[in-house]
Amino acid sequence: MEAFDIGIIGGGPAGYTTALYYAKQGKTVVLFEKDYVGGTCLNKGCIPTKAFLHIADLYSELKDADKLGVNFENLNIDFDKIKEYKNNVIIKLRKGLELTLKNAGVKVVYCCAEMVTKNKIKTETDEYTCSEIIIATGSKPKEIKGLEYDHKFILSSDDILEIEKLPKNILIIGSGAIGIEWTRILSSFGVEVTIAELADRLCPLADWEVSKRIERQFKMKKIKTYLSASVSEITDKKVTLSDGTILEPECILVAVGREVNKYNNNINAKIIGDASSEIMLAHYAVSQAKELALNIPFNKNIIPSVIYGTPEIAWVGEVSKSKEDDEKYDKSMLLISALGKAHCDNKTDGFIKILAKDGHIKGASIISPEASALIQQITIAISNDLSINDLKKVCFAHPTYSEGIMEGIMAL
Ligand SMILES: Cc1cc2nc3c(=O)[nH]c(=O)nc-3n(C[C@H](O)[C@H](O)[C@H](O)COP(=O)(O)OP(=O)(O)OC[C@H]3O[C@@H](n4cnc5c(N)ncnc54)[C@H](O)[C@@H]3O)c2cc1C
Repeated sequence: MEAFDIGIIGGGPAGYTTALYYAKQGKTVVLFEKDYVGGTCLNKGCIPTKAFLHIADLYSELKDADKLGVNFENLNIDFDKIKEYKNNVIIKLRKGLELTLKNAGVKVVYCCAEMVTKNKIKTETDEYTCSEIIIATGSKPKEIKGLEYDHKFILSSDDILEIEKLPKNILIIGSGAIGIEWTRILSSFGVEVTIAELADRLCPLADWEVSKRIERQFKMKKIKTYLSASVSEITDKKVTLSDGTILEPECILVAVGREVNKYNNNINAKIIGDASSEIMLAHYAVSQAKELALNIPFNKNIIPSVIYGTPEIAWVGEVSKSKEDDEKYDKSMLLISALGKAHCDNKTDGFIKILAKDGHIKGASIISPEASALIQQITIAISNDLSINDLKKVCFAHPTYSEGIMEGIMAL
């Protein structure tokens, strides 16, 4: 029986990051992965969707480039090649990760593993003794009653990555990050997208003004949205929504969130990542890994959320659910169209909304190019309790989208 300091089950961001941090401290680490290292994030989640989004954005931008004096004749898409690009991105990153783990001295065992006692992990063929065991077994697409995946007509976020050809039209159930990103990808490629969202606004976890803006952007792109809507019935590929509307989509993408991979935890193991049932995001998993392996704590209320595509959408900290909710804060609202950089880039749609109280930022919501990077500035400010007066002293480069943050801060 082989013996290790640390045994980790699950090789996604939570598991592999923990493995690398422990290995760096000189601990012996064994990591069990039943599929591919990188987990959902690298193989079925963050990375493949962002690779698709990159091409979708590129295609949309080129389609409109004639207005900027750049003409593309016969612009078309080759979906097989697009998928090949997506697959190559995954393979390249996965090989890099495998090598990093190898170089760090982490032993990776490719098989299903089970924790059988506080210090013992069992696979089909072997047993391993570990001084400490960590569970990082992740999550899977949530399945809801009446919309069970058949992987042909009713698709999960895993299935949509592998479709052979683009459908003519699709119904997307749910408008969280996954639903919005796939709406953006597919509509850019010319697929007719309809969204059904149970809440009374799109992207219900975001600030109300973010929801309104997404609704407007989708309307302009002729994306049909049904709010406060659910699926009542499906017969012969005919979908009846709760308001009686009948749709006949070529397929349905169910994007209603994820559920933890069931794990028997009678032994009270340490659980991190999606499996911990806290916030199901890769960067949250990585922060948990840092906290566990390196004893670096993080503020669990200050976790940035990002939705990719054009324009990016991001928020952190407190969000306002309604106009009345806004009244509780000192608020600044900077339109992206006020920025020189936005005009140079021909990307003027969006805003930076900052909510503050007692001279400190409490939250921000951003729709803008580079929102994923901009939100980090606010995250650093809140996490370090920097006051608005501290932030006013910072010099921001010109011309940048960051100047929008500066203008927002100066207005508070
Ligand atoms: C479409 C999509 C887009 C996403 N986009 C983003 C994004 O942009 N940003 C973001 O932060 N997050 C995003 N996420 C979420 C992100 O992928 C997850 O939060 C992240 O992967 C969680 O990491 P994890 O290590 O906890 O679990 P996972 O990545 O799910 O990894 C768990 C691993 O454990 C393995 N495993 C499970 N059971 C066993 C066992 N018994 N033995 C051995 N191995 C086992 C699995 O095979 C898997 O590889 C996205 C998710 C999806 C589905």
